[in-house]
Amino acid sequence: MRSPRAGHAGGEELESCGACTSCAAPGVPDEDAEAAQAWTFAHLAAHPTHTGFREEITRHWRADLVPGPTSPAVPVARRVIT
Ligand SMILES: [Zn+2]
Repeated sequence: MRSPRAGHAGGEELESCGACTSCAAPGVPDEDAEAAQAWTFAHLAAHPTHTGFREEITRHWRADLVPGPTSPAVPVARRVIT
């Protein structure tokens, strides 16, 4: 039996995406936060009264099952950052 466990190996993939809080227009997600922010400036230029934005950051990670520390019959989860 395998079990989950938590882990952190670095190399996290983060993705930023802006969204307008005036009209709920979604931005363009990008791993480069500045590139994602460029959408907000273009949106502001097109809609000068839309000055509020929300940045959503998504962290991608994986989980796998490994043998438990006390018993292989008790599953433990682990977070794996790839
Ligand atoms: Zn807007």
